[in-house]
Amino acid sequence: MFQVTSSGLHRPAFRLSLRPQAGLTTAVHELGIMQSTLGLVEEHARRANATRVHRIVLRIGALAGVDPDALRFAFEVVVPGTIAAGATLQIDAVPALAHCAACQQDFAPETGFIFQCPRCGTLSGQVSQGRELELFRLELS
Ligand SMILES: [Zn+2]
Repeated sequence: MFQVTSSGLHRPAFRLSLRPQAGLTTAVHELGIMQSTLGLVEEHARRANATRVHRIVLRIGALAGVDPDALRFAFEVVVPGTIAAGATLQIDAVPALAHCAACQQDFAPETGFIFQCPRCGTLSGQVSQGRELELFRLELS
């Protein structure tokens, strides 16, 4: 068994850049994300000459607009018949962080979409972390 990590590959294609689409329900949104994810998984497995996928690790930011439970459900729906059938899906939640330009420090926003620095009160629109939606690691053999 070996691992493929996003930090070891440095491929832009490894990062998903999907955003919620208007008019679609949440479940359909997550279904689309999972189909794209499995497409990437199959591509990486093929490139590594792997025949089995043991674990898929996704990093999902708190601001990514993705429901982890819906994602797990979508995985069960789309995984049968793919190379990832039987694999474990691990979802690592990434908490939101914003950057305060005045303090030059990151802070964890207390509410969803208003980022106000708890030290100096400055409002920040700079999200440092929390928009992640990426295939982080694969365990293949
Ligand atoms: Zn500040």
